[in-house]
Amino acid sequence: MLTPAIPTPFPLAWGFSTKQDDPWPPSLRRLHQIHGTVIQEASEELQEGDGLWTMKPRYRIGVRTADCVPILLAGQIEALPWVAALHAGWRSAVGGNGTGDAPGILRVCVEQFRDQGGDPSNLAWALGPSIQKCHFEVGEEVIQAAEKDPAWEAGLRCAGQRGRPHLDLQGFLRSQALALGLAAAKDGSVNLCTVCEPDLLWSLRRDDWGDHQWGWIEIL
Ligand SMILES: [Zn+2]
Repeated sequence: MLTPAIPTPFPLAWGFSTKQDDPWPPSLRRLHQIHGTVIQEASEELQEGDGLWTMKPRYRIGVRTADCVPILLAGQIEALPWVAALHAGWRSAVGGNGTGDAPGILRVCVEQFRDQGGDPSNLAWALGPSIQKCHFEVGEEVIQAAEKDPAWEAGLRCAGQRGRPHLDLQGFLRSQALALGLAAAKDGSVNLCTVCEPDLLWSLRRDDWGDHQWGWIEIL
């Protein structure tokens, strides 16, 4: 497990599994993931969506990724613990089913947290291992969709060796997080590239899809 190296606001188990971990962490509530922006309150049902949240102690929730970005968040609503796990590939990160015409999944999540009475500046958060700008070649339409986000910065588009752009997807999500009021000091991200780490991580883009990583979180 790769564990975010930051203090947590309450006792918490969280982190990102690797090839060295059990491919199916026990007692994990998960989703049928569809690269969208729907976030569900966790239950025993297998729901459709790309984000789960819960305020229940000892109720482990997680998302499955290979190159997409797993995002874990932990905060408090009226002094009670709240946690969420999101699955953010580029379609979910830009929102609007990949068009950028609606808020992305991190924006949706933090707005819901705020609407429930949470303060985003108190969230501990971590982006997990994912395809990084060194390897994430995309089409121009992906960049154009991401550019619609108010937190977009020109430096998130990088030059690729083959003439096609590369997207800094983690950087894009971090830029959104900071714009949403999350604190840089509470960022426990693990900045590893799934393509660059074949011994440690699964990667769809590297055609190494025997299994997958889990990003999971549990209030203790
Ligand atoms: Zn890489």
